[in-house]
Amino acid sequence: MVASSVLGFPRIGANREVKKAVEAYWAGKLSADELTKVAAEVKKTSWTSLKERGVDLIPSGDFSLYDHVLDHSAAFNVIPKRYLGHNLSPLDVYFAMGRGRQADGVDVPASEMKKWFDSNYHFVVPEFSEETDFKLLFNKAVEEFNEAKAAGVSTRPVVLGPPITLLPKLLPIYKQLLGDLKAAGAEWVQVDEPFLVLDAASNLEKQFAIAYSELAPVSPKILLTTYYGRLDSNLKFVAKLPVAGLHIDLDRAPGQLDEVIAAVKPTNLVLSLGLVSGRNIWKTDIEAAVKLGQKTVEAIGTDRVIIATSSSLLHTPVTLAAENKLTAEQKDWFAFALEKASEVSTIAAVISGSQDAKVASAYEANKTSIAKRREFERTSDDAVRKRVAAITPDMLNRKSPFAVRKEIQKQKLNLPKFPTTTIGSFPQTKEIRTARAKLGKKEITEEEYNEFIKKEIESVVRFQEKTGLDLLVHGEPERNDMVQYFGERLHGFVFTQNGWVQSYGSRYVRPPILVSDVSRPGPITVEWSKYAQSVTTKPMKGMLTGPVTILNWSFPRADVSREVQCKQLALALRDEVIDLEKGGISAVQVDEPALREGLPLRKADWAEYLGWALPSFKLATAGVTDALQTHSHFCYSDFDDIFTSIQDLDADVISIEASKSDMKLLNTFKHYGYSNQIGPGVYDIHSPRVPGEQEIKDRVAAMLAILPADLLFINPDCGLKTRGWKETETSLVNLVNAARWARQTY
Ligand code: GLN
Ligand code: ZN
Repeated sequence: MVASSVLGFPRIGANREVKKAVEAYWAGKLSADELTKVAAEVKKTSWTSLKERGVDLIPSGDFSLYDHVLDHSAAFNVIPKRYLGHNLSPLDVYFAMGRGRQADGVDVPASEMKKWFDSNYHFVVPEFSEETDFKLLFNKAVEEFNEAKAAGVSTRPVVLGPPITLLPKLLPIYKQLLGDLKAAGAEWVQVDEPFLVLDAASNLEKQFAIAYSELAPVSPKILLTTYYGRLDSNLKFVAKLPVAGLHIDLDRAPGQLDEVIAAVKPTNLVLSLGLVSGRNIWKTDIEAAVKLGQKTVEAIGTDRVIIATSSSLLHTPVTLAAENKLTAEQKDWFAFALEKASEVSTIAAVISGSQDAKVASAYEANKTSIAKRREFERTSDDAVRKRVAAITPDMLNRKSPFAVRKEIQKQKLNLPKFPTTTIGSFPQTKEIRTARAKLGKKEITEEEYNEFIKKEIESVVRFQEKTGLDLLVHGEPERNDMVQYFGERLHGFVFTQNGWVQSYGSRYVRPPILVSDVSRPGPITVEWSKYAQSVTTKPMKGMLTGPVTILNWSFPRADVSREVQCKQLALALRDEVIDLEKGGISAVQVDEPALREGLPLRKADWAEYLGWALPSFKLATAGVTDALQTHSHFCYSDFDDIFTSIQDLDADVISIEASKSDMKLLNTFKHYGYSNQIGPGVYDIHSPRVPGEQEIKDRVAAMLAILPADLLFINPDCGLKTRGWKETETSLVNLVNAARWARQTY
């Protein structure tokens, strides 16, 4: 029999129970015991529902109250000193590491967060130091394995592989951890090693060999689990590691199957085929998956094949069952985590030659769904497709070079030296959210809502005038979210009611789903920007989310390339930028904070991605006259990797998150000779802390030591949406004063 497996399950609960409980615990409204109870319920529900759906190898140990990487840090005593000695319970130390703590005289910032590989999930970066005293404080894998067993479900525990650079210190601990699992009766353990799909793993062959030859003898059978990409040349040594099984991602890297089969054939390795996507929400084409499974079975035998999800299902919502606003036709296209669990068991059963009527009918139903979706795809929007096909190189470039545009824009916008501006949003107050909720519930009319938003815009404009900012924004009060807002106003997207996916800690997002060709039925932001401009004589900056970011923060279609989807988005936004200019707006910012995140894991794939991502941004922004000042904004990134790409975008002005990264970043800009205007953030908006006037002056002075004076803009790091008004006011007054000082000093 071919076994079926799921590598990990969403830990948020079908109704976001975990978020609610964790936040209630933080607010002091729920005890630690009650929180543990909620978590136990969610875990039990996941295990039993996977079992009911016929999954053979069910994960445990992958649950987390905040982040699974943080769980490992806490278990291994990788706890920086600053969190200790405050008399906090282990649970509170854990949360303090994740989100900082500011209460009862304790004031510690959170640990750094980073994106997990190329996903939008953020993990808490472990902080090691010379003083770190690695030891196993508790064994979560064993605890959850036993917890599942008590609930009547036997599981395959999940453990993150040891960070290879810390092997000497960590091997004894991993031995203990895995040995305890074996003693607890676990037959298999899933050791996650997504690191193996990176270029960086290629020269660590020796370390991996040492690690696994030490671990294998004491451990349950190890399934070495790779995902998010292909093994490539790492396959050579991976296939020789002394483990019992290997998992590969055939969603992200379908091309590697033949090579992997060839490599494992002479060994005894069990091969786990990641055929059901852990990263997207489309139904699996079961017939196609069955073929790949059969081919593998023919090569290495039934007992050595497992049918699995490509990665953990952490990146997908829990279940489609709760969606009642999608049409029946739309619902039939998707599979969320629970539905994916059924898919793996169906695929495995079909390959095993099951005669079960339920399996047969699930298989038939899937064939029908896939055929219907293909049929739908044929009803695509020809006009949009033709437009994409007709994109010409000259559509990607502005009419004149930056130097010429700069002079024209100087006349038009009449900005002072060191212009001040903000990144777009102003505080999203409770009143704004309430008004939007009321509109949603039809408690107020569209007109009443619009009047309310207009008042908000006007007051934000007055505030900026009073503060003395130079290039104004309308404040984005009408937006729920920078991607959802545009998705809802473009053709081609659908939205879920409950499709939440964990982004970090208790922050979940609900990505829009791209389902068909994208077009713009009409202007989106133009009326708001025009209104904002009508109440002031200062120049107004229009505000859009860029095509790459909209794509990267949505679930993309699986039937059309990301390139095509991005270009369709770009064309829609291009029309919007043109309409903004026609409407009398003299600057437009097109945000691309997710440009870096979309960069492929393998360097060899970068050129392909950048080859359509950069032109898409340019396509969106180059349809205007030289007089329109284009801006773009980047944050959450390490820019070194994409520096030259940012230059290629040829935006007139860019703003970047910089207040935390010292001046290292600016040196990079200098090193490469960045030639357009640039506003490195001088105010860290991620914290309620107000930057003092002198502090901003010092930053500006440091920037001017590196950057040419005629290129510098002065602005915060990012949008002010999550900030309160009070700190925003003081901070921006300080920012404007620092700019005034700079104008006199330089
Ligand atoms: N214009 C957006 C805002 O100000 C930019 C947000 C972002 O970079 N994430 O909110
Ligand atoms: Zn930002």
